[in-house]
Amino acid sequence: MQGTPNNPSGFIFSKRSMSNLAGTHKDLQKVIYEALRTSPVDFLVYNGLRTLEEQKTLVATGKSPTMRSRHLTGHAIDLAPITSSGNIEWGDIATFDALGTHIKATAKRLGIKIKWGGDWKSKDRPHYQLNWKAYPIDGPEPNTAPLPKPDLPTATPAPQNEPEGFLARMKALTRRYAF
Ligand SMILES: [Zn+2]
Repeated sequence: MQGTPNNPSGFIFSKRSMSNLAGTHKDLQKVIYEALRTSPVDFLVYNGLRTLEEQKTLVATGKSPTMRSRHLTGHAIDLAPITSSGNIEWGDIATFDALGTHIKATAKRLGIKIKWGGDWKSKDRPHYQLNWKAYPIDGPEPNTAPLPKPDLPTATPAPQNEPEGFLARMKALTRRYAF
């Protein structure tokens, strides 16, 4: 993807990411928007706000350890790095960790306090949440208004079957895995 001054990474959110961002706290959205704009890796918003029923099912199937989840209130989000073909490589720990470092740095730059699941003893690398202390459960309601249109340029699809397009994608891949 070609970067622009407004969107240096050249990455834009998919419809799936946008719908998973909806209903999450506006400060979390702020971090995620800014993070994608400047991200060294493309990523998907895999999960955001959960209903009580969804959380019960996740706990019952061992996919979440707790009913005291910040996903229930829009204070948490799960992100996964994606390849240029849009796939998640769950085993690519190095890229999950690179994304974690980037998201934390972005939040710090914006002065928004978040925690990354990758820093926990029981690691949850896709998971990011607003700090409990700075954002208590009885704090302001999460922003459930429809998302504003992101200030990002429209995606230009990569040219298919053209050596330039292919080279650009290869270059992006190399950059993606270079750290
Ligand atoms: Zn999570």
